[in-house]
Amino acid sequence: MLVNFGTIRTFIFDINGTVMQWNSLNPYMDKLISTLKKRNKKVYYVTDNCVLTRAQMAEKLTKLGLKTQEKDIISSGYVAADYFESKGIDKVYVAGERGLVSELGEKGIRVSEDADHVILSIDRNFNYMKLKKIGDLAEKGAKLYMTGMNRNWYIDDEVYPAEMPIIDSVKKFTGKDIMLLGMPSSEMKAKLLEDIFLFPEDTLLIGDSISTNIKFGNSCGFRTGLVLTGESSENDLAGLSAEEKPTVVIRDLRNIIKNL
Ligand SMILES: [Mg+2]
Repeated sequence: MLVNFGTIRTFIFDINGTVMQWNSLNPYMDKLISTLKKRNKKVYYVTDNCVLTRAQMAEKLTKLGLKTQEKDIISSGYVAADYFESKGIDKVYVAGERGLVSELGEKGIRVSEDADHVILSIDRNFNYMKLKKIGDLAEKGAKLYMTGMNRNWYIDDEVYPAEMPIIDSVKKFTGKDIMLLGMPSSEMKAKLLEDIFLFPEDTLLIGDSISTNIKFGNSCGFRTGLVLTGESSENDLAGLSAEEKPTVVIRDLRNIIKNL
């Protein structure tokens, strides 16, 4: 075994595709998390999904059986709000949903049609005219940001587009670079390490995406575990360098429970 789960003190879980498929928990997740808590392990969550605020996401996880507080979740919307606040940016154009708008609003950042900064996220109402609007703002020199670079979002057995298809269309239209504020950005890393007291070498990040979660965890110096319930499959591991690989592939969460 590449990770001695018993010595891990802090467990950080990606949410979508890892902990849940939006309306239900993945198999043995409730058992794993209750066992971790019984053993006095610290449990946190990271997500690029900004459809909900952190408070709403905590409520959702709690309803699904995982008692969670807002402060246990680091979302890329929260990171983005913090980043804009730190740069003195108080208005942005948002291609995103109410969760992101609320998260920004909590830091005093308002949504404007006439902004020098544009943030892209999952937006189920994204359309042709929004793309044109973003193009107009970019043409006038607006800077572009994104809350994540996930291709998929899972709701039950259905696969929905996440941020990447929207981002690709904006890139194709504007030709501009887009700054990432979600996983695996240095901004998300800085916020996580600021908010959570941990020792990187005693921390395991578990996620379903090699290109976002595992890359992020590895960049933070954590141990990383890939689950196969979401974006990445075992075939995606071929040809990865040592830094890109997860420390361990977790095929069955019961293996962690057994070895705690
Ligand atoms: Mg995921």
